[in-house]
Amino acid sequence: MLNFLPPSLAPLIVGLAGIAASFLFLFGLQRMSSPVTAPSGIRVAGVGMVVAVLASFLYALGVDEAARPHLWVNLALAIVALALGGGVAWWAGRTVAMTAMPQMVAIYNGMGGGAAAGIAAVELFGNKASDATALGVTLLGALIGAVSLSGSLIAWAKLQGVLNKPLRVPGQQLLNGAVMLVTVALGVFIVCVAYKLVDSPVAMPAMVWTFLALALAFGVLMTLPIGGADMPVVISIYNAFTGLAVGLEGYVLQNPALMIAGMVVGAAGLLLTLLMAKAMNRSVSNVVFTNFGGPSKHKRSAVKGELKPMAPGDAGIAMRYAKSVIIVPGFGLAAAQAQGKLYEFVKMLQAGGVSVKFAIHPVAGRMPGQMDVLLAEAGVPYDMIFQLEDINEEFATTDISLVIGANDVVNPAARSDKGSPIYGMPILNADKAGKCFVVKRGEGKGYAGIVNALFYADNTCMVYGDALAVLQQMTESVKSLGLPAAA
Ligand code: NDP
Repeated sequence: MLNFLPPSLAPLIVGLAGIAASFLFLFGLQRMSSPVTAPSGIRVAGVGMVVAVLASFLYALGVDEAARPHLWVNLALAIVALALGGGVAWWAGRTVAMTAMPQMVAIYNGMGGGAAAGIAAVELFGNKASDATALGVTLLGALIGAVSLSGSLIAWAKLQGVLNKPLRVPGQQLLNGAVMLVTVALGVFIVCVAYKLVDSPVAMPAMVWTFLALALAFGVLMTLPIGGADMPVVISIYNAFTGLAVGLEGYVLQNPALMIAGMVVGAAGLLLTLLMAKAMNRSVSNVVFTNFGGPSKHKRSAVKGELKPMAPGDAGIAMRYAKSVIIVPGFGLAAAQAQGKLYEFVKMLQAGGVSVKFAIHPVAGRMPGQMDVLLAEAGVPYDMIFQLEDINEEFATTDISLVIGANDVVNPAARSDKGSPIYGMPILNADKAGKCFVVKRGEGKGYAGIVNALFYADNTCMVYGDALAVLQQMTESVKSLGLPAAA
């Protein structure tokens, strides 16, 4: 057996490694707050993760001879799991399409929650909790982790398009409430049985299995009815849940790195949840407990006006002669992978003296921050990118708004149509510009599945086609003008 560390030194080194890993996580996270420093922030946090993993191996090698009967088998299993998990994540990270990123994030969220629930299950089945508090914390971590796992899998299915509609049964909220209540009551009962306050006719493992199954069922039931435009809030809630579950299990294992990493993710997830809910102008409880995001009661016949097609070349030339253009990117831009071409077109407009800005809606795309990442990838300078509250007033004094692959985030129904599932959500005022050009392939709806009156407005023209092909034609038409670049 390896006893390469003096017994007194092992806990000290492991503890210090945990604190070093925690510091690296926090420092990395702080750097992630700006797109400029984010790449190095991710690397720093990655180094923290490596330190935390090495510290875990050191910890395993340092424990008492008597307490490690299956040490080598367990270490071998951990190495196989690391190789498998790391290998799949490496491959997925390199090959995933930009448009599939949100699904991948949902899956990873679920994996984190599942890992926390797994740790809790090992503790519970092994009857390892040192006291009632530790047992209670383990159960809470198991509950939150399992909800996050099954809920994130449903979120994945919705983002992937496997589940297209919110699924509800009559009395859904009552059913959800009942399942949650029974789960919590069973958790309390488990603690009482463990401390011999009451007798149970059922054996402990069966109760733990039932507890975990109920928690998983709750995650499914909670996520199935949430629909359309609400998904950003759901994704960030599960982000927060996963962090919380990991933090709680870190407490159970007395592992500082796990505790701090979990709490950081939990706090960041909570803030993101509040931001996303604010972006939708909804409270979190509203999203989780009401039918927001449900099917639209809005009819196409209620929208007045005509769709007015325009050739991409004409739209490009109109923008070249405009004074100011605000671009609203949406999910379709990511789907077409047209961000590079878009910036090439923008640079041509700028060279001609046109003032160009980008307006970002917080829930545009399928993942918080997806549009910022997309534009950063294309090299768009950060000072050209504006968030909703900073630019919305400017649309009214802008010549042209170019809506490219966006739909729900510019849908005026959010302002006026009480029957709309996005009613109350602040939108980008693309309709208030002098003219609005909308680039999309056809009459496809947005994620919320509703008609968009903007497309039928008098000042709107529809530029049909895949965003990449349209931008190609716009660029060529401006080039064909042969105008000298402005000084
Ligand atoms: P939308 O989903 O509302 O609309 C995207 C539009 O892009 C569609 O109408 C589609 O029309 C068009 N499109 C698709 N592919 C292409 C292409 N290749 N070229 C050109 N156009 C294309 O996107 P928004 O960004 O406006 O709104 C985001 C929606 O997603 C909101 O409802 C939000 O709540 C939801 N959501 C957001 C999440 C987040 O975290 N940001 C997470 C989950 C959901 P057509 O088919 O006619 O081309």
